[in-house]
Order: sequence, then structure tokens, then C-alpha cells
Amino acid sequence: MHAFPCGTLSLDFVGTLRARRDPAPAEMLGDPAALDAWFLEAGVVDVAPGADHTDISSAIELREAIYAAAAARLGGSSLPAEAVTVLNRWSVSAPVPVLLEDGFTRRRGSAAEALATVARNAVDLLGGEDAVLMRECARPGCTQVYVDRSRGARREWCSMRTCGNRVKASQFRARQRTARAAS
Ligand SMILES: [Zn+2]
Repeated sequence: MHAFPCGTLSLDFVGTLRARRDPAPAEMLGDPAALDAWFLEAGVVDVAPGADHTDISSAIELREAIYAAAAARLGGSSLPAEAVTVLNRWSVSAPVPVLLEDGFTRRRGSAAEALATVARNAVDLLGGEDAVLMRECARPGCTQVYVDRSRGARREWCSMRTCGNRVKASQFRARQRTARAAS
């Protein structure tokens, strides 16, 4: 099962390399089945696209381009040209087709089309008004980037359910230790 902590397709995709500044970050797209599962769980497709090892290389290249561009936006620097080239190459290619079938929305496509869908989301985000709302999770080591749409821009964590609770629990334990030491 993949995690979708931040609720923005392309940024959750970036999060498939977890704990980026760790010497050994966790790679969640280790094989084609993991990539298929990510597209399915993200709702990009309804049927596993049948990714292969070439798709894995493409996915990781696109993911790192999105991250490089997002990191540049976070740091207030201009977008790296190489990352923009990769992003645009994917975003101009055909995304997953969406069909009405028997009254239901159906999304069936190849891994390449699924990557194009992710790239379009990234291009809309990085070049749009929401780019200034990007933040990195406040839990040390998490490194997940998210879009802070909360009122007053007060969201601190990629996900309250995971990082927020972990930080609050460790702060609580630290307060207990301090209280014990004082008594
Ligand atoms: Zn986090």
C-alpha cells in the first residue's frame, strides 16, 4: 500500500522517495508492480497499466524532475532547465483517456499515459498560483512537500494523521520526561 499524505497527485508522487535527505531514503517504486499499484491507488487508472522496467526509469526521471522544480520553488530560485525539459516532455504527451462507460467514469491507460497525467498535474501546480503555497513537512526527516491551502496558511505537516501525530506524541513524551526529571 502506498501513502498519499498530501492530497496533491504530483507531490504524493514525489513522496514515493521517502525521507530524501536520509543517507538511505526509502524507494517505494522499486519494481513495475509497485508503480502499477501507485497509479491504481492514486486513481490515475482503474486497471493496472502493466508497467515495465523502462516505465520505472521514466517514472523516477519524472519524479526527480518534479522534485527539483518544487525544491527550486521552495527555495525561491528559478526552475532548473533540465527539470523543466523533462516535465514538458511528459506533459505534452497524451494523458490517461477518461471515458463514460455504462454510466461510470473509466480510466484505462498505459504507464506512459499515467506519467503524462502526473506531469500535467505538476505543471499546473508549479506554474500556477498554488506554487507559492508549497511547504515542506515540519517533521524532521520527512521531506514531503505539500500545498498549504489551510486558512491562514497554518498547516505544518504533510499529514496530521502520520507526521503531525508523531511529532505531537514525541513532544508529549519529552514533556513527561522533563516533568519526571523535575520531580
Ligand atoms: Zn511529513
